[in-house]
Amino acid sequence: MLGIVFPGDRETALVTFPDPTPGPGEVIVEMKASGMCGSDLHLYRQPKGGTSVSAAMSKNTEDPATLIRGHEPCGIVAAVGAGVSERLARVGQRVMVHHYWGCAVCGECRTGWTQLCENEAPKMYGTNAHGSHAHYFKVPAQTILPLPDELSFEAGAAIGCGSGTSYGALKRLRMDGGGTIAVFGQGPVGLAGTQFAKAMGARVIALDISDERLAMAKKFGADEIINPAKDDAVSALKDLTHGRGTDAALETSGAVSARLEAIKGLKRWGTGAFVGIGAPTPIDINLDMILRQVTIFGSVTFSAPWQEECARFAVDHKIDVDGIFTHRWALEQADEAYKLLDQQACGKGVFVM
Ligand SMILES: [Zn+2]
Ligand SMILES: [Zn+2]
Repeated sequence: MLGIVFPGDRETALVTFPDPTPGPGEVIVEMKASGMCGSDLHLYRQPKGGTSVSAAMSKNTEDPATLIRGHEPCGIVAAVGAGVSERLARVGQRVMVHHYWGCAVCGECRTGWTQLCENEAPKMYGTNAHGSHAHYFKVPAQTILPLPDELSFEAGAAIGCGSGTSYGALKRLRMDGGGTIAVFGQGPVGLAGTQFAKAMGARVIALDISDERLAMAKKFGADEIINPAKDDAVSALKDLTHGRGTDAALETSGAVSARLEAIKGLKRWGTGAFVGIGAPTPIDINLDMILRQVTIFGSVTFSAPWQEECARFAVDHKIDVDGIFTHRWALEQADEAYKLLDQQACGKGVFVM
């Protein structure tokens, strides 16, 4: 089979690997869609042979240049290993994958938060273990989640990281009671945040420095848009909320300026969720949090049960998950696909097999 690897310095290579076979408790998924995620760029941009920050973070055990990338997998179960019950996976089943694996026995792993494993550095498929930009993908059977018939393979891929990340943060923000939320960044994660927050009943103010992305946000239901490159974001947020500020904020860009605006734009008793990875950010805890009763939290993706719940939510609320994709690629187009993603100006890309 073929798989996409990142040799370093913004290069891609399509490498031939032996077709994987399932060991006990394992499943082989025939890939139908494998999404491209903004976080791929940390790995794509790594210098050749160097130990960059992202390489250290990902605790690579194998040579990163020979690791198959991609961590938004969706496809069909092609083979199951010994001891895999029918309840977990069946050949021919349409499936998503929760793209992490840990010790399987600690409290975090048992509740589906394997990326937070207490006992070992978790496997993060596509980062420190072979990922899904390939024809086949081998994973423990417990990572498999059913893909509802109503959702496309591409939608299942998006829910597997980008879209699911916004859902996980919004779930913790409890937007189901309405209120106004500012969604910072309207890339694939932020756009999904706009879609889900609207479906949860919130009034959405979308922010991005790209007018093109703001136009997409409008299309996906944003009530108001702000371009912080043109207008002062905090004043604009106050103007749109009777001078009070927003009930909630979801920050997806990781930009220091956006993080600070997200906090300053909150009303008293407001809550901010942060999912975008970025540079260390100085926060005035006195003025911006304590004296305004502000709550902020960080949110890393979602648990396996939340991923399944996100897929059901997308079906029940007729979320146009596929609408986020602007580019569909063949594995052979990896070079072109990542060169475009690197510019961080387009919508979302996905490899389809
Ligand atoms: Zn991702
Ligand atoms: Zn664990």
